[in-house]
Amino acid sequence: MCNVMREKPNEMNSPLIRRWALERLSRLFLIAAGVAMFGLLATMVVIARRPREVIAMAPQVVTMAPPIIQTLILLPTPTPTITPTPEPPPIALLAGHSGGSDPGAMCPDGLREVDVTTDVAQRAKTILQSRGYRVDILAEYDTRFNGVDRAYSPRAFLAIHADSCVAYASGFKVARAENSVIAHEDDRLVRCVTVAYKAATQLPFHEGSITGNMTRYHAFYKFNPQSPAAILELGFLGADKEMLRNRRDVLSLGIVEGIERFLRGEACQ
Ligand SMILES: [Zn+2]
Repeated sequence: MCNVMREKPNEMNSPLIRRWALERLSRLFLIAAGVAMFGLLATMVVIARRPREVIAMAPQVVTMAPPIIQTLILLPTPTPTITPTPEPPPIALLAGHSGGSDPGAMCPDGLREVDVTTDVAQRAKTILQSRGYRVDILAEYDTRFNGVDRAYSPRAFLAIHADSCVAYASGFKVARAENSVIAHEDDRLVRCVTVAYKAATQLPFHEGSITGNMTRYHAFYKFNPQSPAAILELGFLGADKEMLRNRRDVLSLGIVEGIERFLRGEACQ
């Protein structure tokens, strides 16, 4: 007898049929995946065209899509939150003798200290502002600072004065508070203003005449002791009157350069 005739052929065991079934199954799977993908894509397109508020309510659907699809449907990027960086404090320029009844030194030719200091401070402010700095011009006894809370905190403080009308002395001088708690920084500010002012004006530094009026200047005790501070005597209203009367653009530029070098962190040796 023939064994082949006795065994009933098992159709599912046939390799050809199995392959055919697998092909059908995979084709069905591909179609189903395609339909699902199309559905997802259509949903995301609809969402993307809706107002931002609606998208915000269903962000998961969109953000779950692969990056390429997010790009295709022009997913709106969230608006970045801009955190404003705090503005640095202003530079303080005190125009000596301004805002009161005492004009400071008054020369026989009519030149007054207060007129020089006010004009030079204003010119320096204009230049500093054009370079992006905020500047406060302070009066001699400005109400913005006081010796009680010392809350006023400029990033640098410079008081601007001028010396007497004598004809026998010439030059400028710069000093800091004698009891400074930041002597190292104050000394650097003094150096920067000295170097830059000297270079701009060609005036000599008037050695040996820094007085207690400068090192114990009243304003030094009225703002934050952590604010770097100095006092500048522009020159003598007598011997240096040509500069103090006619070259205030140069004087103010020297001040600006000095403050800027200090703020840039230069040692100004
Ligand atoms: Zn003065």
